[in-house]
Amino acid sequence: MENGTSNGSTGGAACCNGNGAVRGPHVAMLATPGMGHLIPLAELAKRLASRHGATATLITFASTASATQRAFLASLPPAVTSLSLPPVDLSDLPRGAAIETLMSEECARSVPALTSILLDLKRTTGGRLAAFVADLFGADSLDAARAAGVRRRCIFFPTNLHALTLMLHLPELDASVSCEFRDLPEPLRLPGCVPIPGPDILMPLQDKANPCYRWMVHHGGKYRDADAILVNSFDAVEPGPAKILRQPAADHRPVVYPIGPLIHADGREDDKDALCLEWLDRQPARSVMFVSFGSGGALPTEEMRELALGLELSGQRFLWVVRSPSDEGAVNDNYYDAESKKDPFAYLPEGFVDRVTATGVGLVVPSWAPQTKVLAHAATGGFLTHCGWNSVLESLVYGVPMVAWPLFAEQRQNAVMLSDGVGAALRVPESSKGREEIAATVREVMQGEGKGAAVRAKVAELQKAAAEGLRDGGAAATALAEVVEGWTTTGGQEEED
Ligand code: UDP
Repeated sequence: MENGTSNGSTGGAACCNGNGAVRGPHVAMLATPGMGHLIPLAELAKRLASRHGATATLITFASTASATQRAFLASLPPAVTSLSLPPVDLSDLPRGAAIETLMSEECARSVPALTSILLDLKRTTGGRLAAFVADLFGADSLDAARAAGVRRRCIFFPTNLHALTLMLHLPELDASVSCEFRDLPEPLRLPGCVPIPGPDILMPLQDKANPCYRWMVHHGGKYRDADAILVNSFDAVEPGPAKILRQPAADHRPVVYPIGPLIHADGREDDKDALCLEWLDRQPARSVMFVSFGSGGALPTEEMRELALGLELSGQRFLWVVRSPSDEGAVNDNYYDAESKKDPFAYLPEGFVDRVTATGVGLVVPSWAPQTKVLAHAATGGFLTHCGWNSVLESLVYGVPMVAWPLFAEQRQNAVMLSDGVGAALRVPESSKGREEIAATVREVMQGEGKGAAVRAKVAELQKAAAEGLRDGGAAATALAEVVEGWTTTGGQEEED
């Protein structure tokens, strides 16, 4: 590999003919920074390998070579190898540039290196390179795939059909909405979608003067260059947009395939993981509220303190992944490296950790917990989540009802869709995030009080629908089979165009 740093041999065998040569298609996949992007893309790669005999190369950016990411990549099966793009210079970007801007710039500036990598891959995989898949901030990389003559070019959208609908409508909304989205007098109504109040719309769209707004409009337009868009969602959780996006489009937008929920369920365990799981083993069934804000989310100190006191006040058991607060920077400060920089426990109310440890009512862990194993555990009965889409899907796969506490990205609109739409979560009221409100919402979900009962029933229904879709012949399995068939047959946007 001339242009990237390989983390393993590219194109490892998944499926061989009698001579030991690899058959099956090879897929190159570009993951923009963030474990929330990498994890579902890797799951897609694993599914393509196990169900369709494919091999895959996951391509990552130099800016995200964290220990967490390295450990994750090392845990992938031999059919899924990885390599890193060389670093690009981003020093001209202003300090405090939005994450979406950083990711988009890094991707656009990596197109020449990516083109060389794809040309290399074409050679080293003996003509098996059938498709290129980029995730949501990687739309510019479709140009690299085109330049390298990769026949099929797809977008993998790791979030949901609501967010995709918004992205696909962005070029026209950019032309028609003159005010800031947060100032819209009415909720935004998009085809099939739950109406989203202006302030809850995708965070990078909330300030039109910020370059990240322009980038999002750019990506929304660029998605139309793809042959297909694969979405990590399923029809039952958002039936409205699923119905619309599954129909053939008059406006030539790419075909949309809901192929989810793809979740990461089998990570390796370390000592810190064992601490959480052993603690859960000692708790009664469905008695614990798991509290976590994704791979990088953190709260401002004041909210962190109210949450601590609200959890205590709720009288419910809890397991909380605590990060140092976000006050000195953006709420997503930990994004590029999930390890908390400071001691997060130092910001909790005085005596809190000692009290909850002494009574055994709570466990607080710094920075990271084995989330899917926690959600799968019989003792877990609720999930207070930032509504990152992977977290939502994991919760639904394991049938855990949610309390929504969104922070950034598309999390606020996810919270609207989950609470006002399908009814799988209760949202802590935005205007009054005090300890009493927090305690009341936690109790409703854990005890099935008030609206909590309906949320629990809905989540059980969605858990069943998700499992059915992934079975052979289910909607998600069939959608992915259709995508792969498109990769291995000719037609569509042809090579070297
Ligand atoms: N995650 C985890 N342990 C943690 C925090 C996060 O395993 O302590 C995983 C979680 O299971 C999910 C991903 O990291 O797969 C977070 O993705 P999500 O889309 O929920 O949020 P983001 O990190 O993108 O904000």
